[in-house]
Amino acid sequence: CGVFGVYAPAEDVATLTYFGLYALQHRGQESAGVATFNRGQVHSYKGMGLVSQVFDDEILRQLPGQWAVGHTRYSTTGSSRMVNAQPAVLDTRLGQMALAHNGNIVNANSLRDELLKRDHELLTTTDSELIALAMVEAIAEGQQDWIGGAIAAFKRCEGAFSLTIATPEGLIVTRDHRGIRPLVLGYIGSQDPQDGPGQYVVASETCGLDIVGAQYLRDIRPGELLWIDSSGLKSVQWAEAERKLCVFEMIYFARPDSVFHHESLYSYRKRLGQQLAKESPAEVDLVMPVPDSGVPAAIGYSEAAGVPYAEGLIKNRYVGRTFIQPTQTMREAGIRMKLNPLRDVLESKRILVVDDSIVRGTTSRKLVKALYEAGAAEVHMRISSPPVTHPCFYGIDTDSQDQLIAATNSVKEIEAQIGVVSLAYLSWEGMLAATGVDPNSFCSACFTGNYPVEIPDSFRQSKLI
Ligand code: 5GP
Ligand code: SF4
Ligand code: MG
Repeated sequence: CGVFGVYAPAEDVATLTYFGLYALQHRGQESAGVATFNRGQVHSYKGMGLVSQVFDDEILRQLPGQWAVGHTRYSTTGSSRMVNAQPAVLDTRLGQMALAHNGNIVNANSLRDELLKRDHELLTTTDSELIALAMVEAIAEGQQDWIGGAIAAFKRCEGAFSLTIATPEGLIVTRDHRGIRPLVLGYIGSQDPQDGPGQYVVASETCGLDIVGAQYLRDIRPGELLWIDSSGLKSVQWAEAERKLCVFEMIYFARPDSVFHHESLYSYRKRLGQQLAKESPAEVDLVMPVPDSGVPAAIGYSEAAGVPYAEGLIKNRYVGRTFIQPTQTMREAGIRMKLNPLRDVLESKRILVVDDSIVRGTTSRKLVKALYEAGAAEVHMRISSPPVTHPCFYGIDTDSQDQLIAATNSVKEIEAQIGVVSLAYLSWEGMLAATGVDPNSFCSACFTGNYPVEIPDSFRQSKLI
């Protein structure tokens, strides 16, 4: 999911949130929502579909306010239904709150049981509502203010949560103490204290700051809570940081123009391709990407290998969610709705295709077939991450283990199944070394099975073989 928050009394916060979500659309396409606070009063609007399908000028005009939060959803816990759209708006003893969540709470089942025992009514099937309800409970049972209520709730949650929460008095922003999902802070206008307390923007990725013209300040620290109100920023470290950023954000999920560790992911992914070329060379005529996710790594591979780069597949940029089912003939044509091969580039050539990852293997299989049909003499494949062998429990939908082709097949078997002359993956060491920061500061459990947060059995069984 994508989360956004803005505290900017001098601006149209609903419109800023709309554009922030627009830049974070890749993080979730199922639903979108915005909640604003106007002089203590919440206004919210949510809908199914893309940000541009859910909102228009008229709707945004009905969302006045001085601060706001927003969300784009992709479901990992709870079904894809309207009731599960966020921000979740709830009543508390201190007034209403609106919460937007990215991540996955692994102790959701036991937390749900505890909350139900206390007669809280559940309106959704999401883990996000549970965080909000834990806040409601903490405030009802004696926490005097929003910060106290939030911290008491966060301490009951295990797993991944990057949150933006709007209250009648200000914004709360936090990351779980491992910092599994990203969250960045920026500002708009002036940072000079003489000009006032400052106007702040928070987004899952820096591309969400860029689009609204915000300057990047820093990442929210793992285990940090930020309170933003009319007197500025207040930071509280509510748990000791243990850095475990999701490495899959860097490889695939986040946008290539987002900056992580002071560098765009475009540059990082290019370096993955260079490393891949060193580890796994091949005798070929052309290097090409699976667009768009394989582009930076393919460029890096081509540069390091000294083999020309070409585009052999053109992606239809407008393929989104269509409610009209393709016909059977179209289904047999496979991936061509999304990717169409260029015969005159591919004909009689030995091609090396680069992609960022193989999950189920369905994309690769269809793609290789289409490349041969378009005349390629040989198709080799290189993947700029290691084999995905384990499911994610922290908010990336890489499927249950039985769906992961590399969980049950060797590289040689996958090579045969997808029909390439040769297949190689990047090494785990190569992937982590290319980040340029401490390799221990990442979660890479989907490649190793070493989960940094213990998974309760009931949840583990839902996704493991
Ligand atoms: P496959 O067909 O092997 O399941 O998918 C691999 C392709 O999907 C790659 O091109 C990769 O960019 C993309 N991909 C990687 N991880 C995910 C994921 O978690 N969800 C979705 N929808 N696509 C993914
Ligand atoms: Fe990211 Fe994989 Fe860890 Fe999930 S298991 S948080 S996808 S690195
Ligand atoms: Mg892809």
